[in-house]
Amino acid sequence: MNIILFGPPAAGKGTQAKILTSERGFLQLSTGDMLRAARTSGSDLGNKVAGIMDRGDLVSDEIVIALIEEQLDNNTDAAGFIFDGFPRTVAQAEALDASLEKRGMSVNSVVRLCVDDNVLLGRVEKRFTQEGRKDDNPESFKIRLANYNEQTAPLLPYYAKQGKLTEIDGLAEIDTVSASVAQVLDMHNTGRTNKTVPFWKRLLGLK
Ligand code: AMP
Repeated sequence: MNIILFGPPAAGKGTQAKILTSERGFLQLSTGDMLRAARTSGSDLGNKVAGIMDRGDLVSDEIVIALIEEQLDNNTDAAGFIFDGFPRTVAQAEALDASLEKRGMSVNSVVRLCVDDNVLLGRVEKRFTQEGRKDDNPESFKIRLANYNEQTAPLLPYYAKQGKLTEIDGLAEIDTVSASVAQVLDMHNTGRTNKTVPFWKRLLGLK
């Protein structure tokens, strides 16, 4: 089962992804984490994206799509993927659909964490003091939020049209949010995983 956790920066996607990883064994694919790791390693890619990230702008579609495809290929036995912070543009969403289809998979569920802008600002200020992420400063955050509204929010109708979108209250306590996410996934889950089950096992009802 493949899930997109959708929402503005600091909506709680990363926290929920980690809970799902530990509870269901799905693999979290966070393009933000991958890009931060590239920066820490001092790679060419990391140096190329550093300024863009600190400003709060989006890095190019090609870069993040390539990172995701690499992970899909390196984790063919994953029980499912949780996309966190990806896709962020319509081009990325279309590329994800094509990449998954090529590998015999699809996006099964998109869960939107709904959170007020004012609450986000408070969360980011707190994270800035705790973690010191440069793009959590108020100026960069304003740009990140504007980019979300302009480039990422248009994905909502894209997934709603496919009947995959569910909205949940992201303002509740972490445990309450994760219970809502679990409820959505259990509703969507048909018992399928990404692992191919041989037809004779399916016939005998063995998974
Ligand atoms: P995040 O941790 O998801 O908030 O991402 C941090 C930063 O990494 C973003 O502000 C962007 O600069 C960059 N980034 C992460 N994911 C993407 C993506 N899917 N498309 C473009 N840029 C991204």
